[in-house]
Amino acid sequence: VFVSFEGGDGVGKSTQVALLGHHLAALGREVVVTREPGGTPLGIELRRAVLHGDELDPRTEALLYAADRAHHVASLVRPALARGAVVLTDRYLDSSVAYQGSGRGLGADEVERLSLWAVDELLPHLTVLLDLDPVVGLARLTGDPDRLESAGDEFHRRTREAFLARAAADPARWLVLDASQPAEDVAAQVRERLAPLLGP
Ligand code: C5P
Repeated sequence: VFVSFEGGDGVGKSTQVALLGHHLAALGREVVVTREPGGTPLGIELRRAVLHGDELDPRTEALLYAADRAHHVASLVRPALARGAVVLTDRYLDSSVAYQGSGRGLGADEVERLSLWAVDELLPHLTVLLDLDPVVGLARLTGDPDRLESAGDEFHRRTREAFLARAAADPARWLVLDASQPAEDVAAQVRERLAPLLGP
């Protein structure tokens, strides 16, 4: 079973991934917790390049995210799914559609095509969108902002709207949750939606 968590910066994705990971491990499931960009050693180098390196034009940025994702899926996600593990990823291709497609203006359809090609069409069984006003999310962050976090209100509003539109178009895959709720309440709603997908 493959589950992705999506949403803007500071919405609590990593907290939810960790809470669900602990829950599944307690049930005796093998769980692989990972992230994009940066879920592999090569991905860590690509993450540094894309978030803290040279100024990048939008196509270069999109291709680096796609390269990170292709390698992540081929080397880590698919082998884990093949052994029956539950894979939880903090961001997946919907982030590229929202950030590079809508935020950077490359076009959602084109970035979706690129992303699906990169992963040979692998989609999550469930994608959890943690939805929050970006002003609230960005205020929750601590530490030095990376390039994307300091991209401006309009950019973050466009990406939020893009996530919501994608989720509305495919409710069978997506669960949209209000990320201003307490973390434990959000986690309970994720567990409830996931339970039938886990099987006996
Ligand atoms: O979620 P995380 O903090 O790991 O994301 C790192 C940064 O990369 C964030 O600022 C996020 O907005 C950005 N990002 C992006 N496009 C993606 C994935 C992440 O702009 N496809």
